[in-house]
Amino acid sequence: MSCLAGDYILLVGQRLYATMNWAYLHLRTLHEGEQCMVAIDRYSRQTLFGPIGKEGQERLQESTVTIIGCGALGTALANNLCRAGIGRIVIADRDYIELNNLQRQILFDEEDITRHLPKAIAAAEKLRRINSNTTVEPLVEDINTDGIESLVRDTDLVLDATDNFETRYLLNDVCVKYGRPWIYSAVVASYGVTMNIVPGDTACLRCVFPEMPLPGTTATCDTAGVLNGIVGAITGVASTEAIKILLKSEKMSRDMFWMDVWENTSERIELPRQRECPTCGQHDYEFLDALGGNSSTSLCGRNAVQVRTMRRGISLNLAELAERLRPVGEVSYNDFLLRFYVDSYELTVFPDARAIIKGTDDEQVAHSVYARYIGN
Ligand SMILES: [Zn+2]
Repeated sequence: MSCLAGDYILLVGQRLYATMNWAYLHLRTLHEGEQCMVAIDRYSRQTLFGPIGKEGQERLQESTVTIIGCGALGTALANNLCRAGIGRIVIADRDYIELNNLQRQILFDEEDITRHLPKAIAAAEKLRRINSNTTVEPLVEDINTDGIESLVRDTDLVLDATDNFETRYLLNDVCVKYGRPWIYSAVVASYGVTMNIVPGDTACLRCVFPEMPLPGTTATCDTAGVLNGIVGAITGVASTEAIKILLKSEKMSRDMFWMDVWENTSERIELPRQRECPTCGQHDYEFLDALGGNSSTSLCGRNAVQVRTMRRGISLNLAELAERLRPVGEVSYNDFLLRFYVDSYELTVFPDARAIIKGTDDEQVAHSVYARYIGN
């Protein structure tokens, strides 16, 4: 019996050695300059798919995609497109990570929260670990009329992963103006919607919704919740459409796709272009041309207000600001943001002098807290 057991251990030992040896040789091969082989092999399940093939894969590698928003939609879209081999991904977001994000924002984990990382920075770290062949450029900023034109001009495709209509109408204006395709996506509760907008070809956002919905008239994730299943479903469709647009595939959808994963329903809605559309018909870009705009935004359902300065090109020294605030309240900072607690408020300040003030949804109160501690 003991002899049998001894043989068995010997056999297992030999197999283990053989496996380790194989793994060692295999890893060494990977490390010793066969990058080309590795790169091709990485996408083999995608290049085997006829409509993409090796030629399509090369085109994806030469493409730039800009993702506006890095929440549920943005992280899932970025994850899919980074793994699919898009050459350059720009991802823009104004916010930092909170615990209730982890249920659906797939690039983040608990450690990102303890490190107080902005969403775009944490996402970029993960994406670079997923695919080092993709260049990832995070932007921790609010997308407004200031920087959006150069952002759109410098990309092949824009993906809407925002949570508000102001940014979407602005995006629509800029993308139509510069002839850049974009994909509208939205999710709330158990349903979601996505639609390709190719200027000069398909309907634009304003052909479909001529007027921006009034604040408080539509359900949001903060008032109606959102299931992570609908995020996966809608971003699965939208990221595939992104690949079709980049490859100029005739299979690109010209309809609005709508789906409810709880009610088990889905629908394709045909949307023709409207000749009298102010944006794509008359080329009147009123959201882009709107001067200034609000310098504060109440962040729906979060008891928080974002305050931003209208002055451009500001770069705050967070270390100096921390020293100034330390006598007044608890303060901490890293390279990307400063966190300051005072009275019943929590202020998160970014180097561009933008701040998210938690503890009020009153914009006037937020402005006065900002003025008191950050200055004008
Ligand atoms: Zn239009």
